[in-house]
Amino acid sequence: MIQQPMRVIVVGAGLAGLAIAHGLKKNNIPYVIVDRETAPRDRNWAITLGWALPLLQKLLPDNLYDSIQQCQPDPNLDAKLAGQTGLLVRDGATGEAKTVSRFPSIRRLNIQKTKRHFSEGLDIRYGKRLVDIALAPGNDAGVTAYFDDGTSETGTTIVGADGGASHVRRWLLGDLALPEALPCDFMNFSFTLPADIALRLDKEMNPTVDVGAHPSNMYLGVFLLDKPDIERPETWVFYILSTWSLSDAGIHHPGSRLSELRSRMRDWFDLFKVVVDNVPDDVEIKPDQLRIWKTRPWDNHRGRITLAGDAAHSMTFHRGQGGNLAIKDADELVKNIITVQRDKVPLQDAIDTYDKGALLRGEEVEISRQCSMAFLDYDNFENSPVFKMGVNPAVKF
Ligand SMILES: Cc1cc2nc3c(=O)[nH]c(=O)nc-3n(C[C@H](O)[C@H](O)[C@H](O)COP(=O)(O)OP(=O)(O)OC[C@H]3O[C@@H](n4cnc5c(N)ncnc54)[C@H](O)[C@@H]3O)c2cc1C
Repeated sequence: MIQQPMRVIVVGAGLAGLAIAHGLKKNNIPYVIVDRETAPRDRNWAITLGWALPLLQKLLPDNLYDSIQQCQPDPNLDAKLAGQTGLLVRDGATGEAKTVSRFPSIRRLNIQKTKRHFSEGLDIRYGKRLVDIALAPGNDAGVTAYFDDGTSETGTTIVGADGGASHVRRWLLGDLALPEALPCDFMNFSFTLPADIALRLDKEMNPTVDVGAHPSNMYLGVFLLDKPDIERPETWVFYILSTWSLSDAGIHHPGSRLSELRSRMRDWFDLFKVVVDNVPDDVEIKPDQLRIWKTRPWDNHRGRITLAGDAAHSMTFHRGQGGNLAIKDADELVKNIITVQRDKVPLQDAIDTYDKGALLRGEEVEISRQCSMAFLDYDNFENSPVFKMGVNPAVKF
């Protein structure tokens, strides 16, 4: 196959796709980035970036990295202080710390603000849902992505950075690409609180991550999402993530989702119980499910198709690794593509090297699954990966 000049088609403008596009742009590698969305999705959450921050700094232009503070739920939280207070896991019954994971520097980032911020300086083509892929015939180089608006893009490599239900993954692996649902109930919803409760929570909660494992085999975390008006605590937006075993779901707790949650909170420590009691009665709790996809090898068709971020390894949030790994993928992919452009490394070799790393990083999917399930098994919780490795990367890659 005659090597063509690189042109990368990045499918998906989430954390992985945006970081890849910035890295390619910074290194003068031609690319196009597309996303199916035309407006931000209503689902929002925050992520903790720790070990991947130096990689993100390498990929982003200086002006975006230097102003990343504005993407935080609390723009006043200092990253070094966040690193010292760390990520707190409590005993849900007593509120006592069970373990704290610390880092030299931690950034808590509101995902919607972050995507908006990272979109600056990129020409993202919105409203383009990838529906098909075609490889150039025979030994020819090149690959074409087709979108639902009837348009297409041709390049040297398609990167599927299209999230946990990746279409590119489905194209590569068929039914083997289907995610697996975990046997637990899951709630993820945001809300505001009366000013006095919001102030109390803000003062008493760990500013980065504050979660509990309860003897009733239940997980609950309360997090800050945004402070739209610093002076008015009643505008501050918080969110709750909670899981419990499916075998236990709904049996003893008829009624609305919120009343079910309230009834499960009876023996929780005071702060979290008070928060749930004060969630507005009409809060919307949409049905949700935890899904994972355990990475398996794919054929990259001579370096013409690969995967990154949740598309390559979709995991639960309990060990806070998905976003960090998406940035690591972006850094590794850009590094390998540079070798094609600069050192004339064959495209196949460069993408093979990247894919091997992505497969290794995929081991985190099972580790995070164990972590999620350990939160629902209080007696064995201290054997969980959260205790053994905190939020450090699981493998050397
Ligand atoms: C509640 C929660 C808490 C989390 N906490 C943490 C944490 O503390 N630390 C951490 O590191 N990670 C965390 N994560 C994980 C992290 O958010 C994800 O790993 C990361 O955002 C994945 O980014 P991505 O770019 O791979 O995928 P996504 O953000 O899902 O982006 C995929 C993009 O592809 C687009 N797309 C999809 N299909 C198509 C198509 N067919 N054509 C075109 N575009 C398409 C979508 O519109 C989307 O914009 C958390 C996740 C959740 C849900």
